[in-house]
Amino acid sequence: MSNKTLITKAKIVLLVIFLILGLTIYRFQKPQLVQENQFVLGTFGQIHLYTKSPKSGNKAINQAYQRIREIENSMSIIISDSDIYQLNENAGIKPIKVTQDTLNVIHKGLEYYELTKGAFNIGLGKISKLWGVNIETDNKIPPAIPKEEEILDAKKHIDLYQLEINNNELFIKDPKMSIDLGGIAKGYAVDEAVRTLEGLGIKSGFVNLGGDIFVLGSKPDGTAWQMGIQSPELGSSNVIVKIQLRNSSIVTSGDYQRYIEKDNKRYHHIIDPSTGYPAENELTSVTIISDTTIKGDSYSTAAFVMGLEKGLDFIENLENTEAIFLTKDKRIYASSGIRDEIELMDKEYKLFK
Ligand code: AMP
Ligand code: MG
Repeated sequence: MSNKTLITKAKIVLLVIFLILGLTIYRFQKPQLVQENQFVLGTFGQIHLYTKSPKSGNKAINQAYQRIREIENSMSIIISDSDIYQLNENAGIKPIKVTQDTLNVIHKGLEYYELTKGAFNIGLGKISKLWGVNIETDNKIPPAIPKEEEILDAKKHIDLYQLEINNNELFIKDPKMSIDLGGIAKGYAVDEAVRTLEGLGIKSGFVNLGGDIFVLGSKPDGTAWQMGIQSPELGSSNVIVKIQLRNSSIVTSGDYQRYIEKDNKRYHHIIDPSTGYPAENELTSVTIISDTTIKGDSYSTAAFVMGLEKGLDFIENLENTEAIFLTKDKRIYASSGIRDEIELMDKEYKLFK
């Protein structure tokens, strides 16, 4: 064998050794946490993920936020060239061509409207505007409590069948109706951000858009994510119950999340479409645990409107969907699929089985 061939062979052997060594080191390397917070969709966004390559992790996070912004640009009610802004501006005037994202969310909104018998209604934009529930997003000072006649008038214009869909064109026939995706768009955005991360090979992490959360896989050590439901009275540092989750969404709607106060009375942001007023019942929060965040987002709002008994009944009839209800008098009710997995942290609360 010539010297040249020997040297070439030695080089190849060395290369293979380095490659194996490199791969072994990579395999035993601990995944590192990469995280970023950004203000998106009128709320505090948080993406955490675990990866062996922080560089590609950061790239994945940026792409996920890009996807969320794309959705925001279609569905925002303050961006004047968004689909929803244009659709509402042109109610009773002309149809508007919308993005596939907007179409997807509108179709889901209609499906949930039927399924919840109108408790979830994306056509109540005129009522939510009266109550100023999207204050942060439409940038106005909190309004006064609306007059009863204003509410009764707005309530006449929330019939979702006034929304016409023709391929990718939407038209609101009723000139006094408007669409509000505030109870569903965040959930969709979380699911799409998760899909983006998964497509880039991320297997562990979470996306949180102001309380609409999806946990991806399990923690890097293989254990489940430990999630808590916060105290409606004491805030996020006080946890009422804990639950272990893998590959799941968890979304809470509560009357303490956004509200205005007048004469010692709280007017919160979850509207009962049948009255036009903030839903008033025994509940302070509803948490939905399910396989998609869009479901969790919409069902948590809907179940809050339905109240404890009807809400629990509604959830029991759905697949891949569980719920935890907290009441004003500190009772906890959970759907049958999750009851035994709840860990009670606050002894002032009672878990009813
Ligand atoms: P969430 O914070 O997910 O419970 O959703 C509340 C937001 O959804 C509000 O800020 C409104 O924009 C909108 N919303 C309120 N009530 C309803 C309802 N009954 N159906 C659909 N959307 C609603
Ligand atoms: Mg919601």
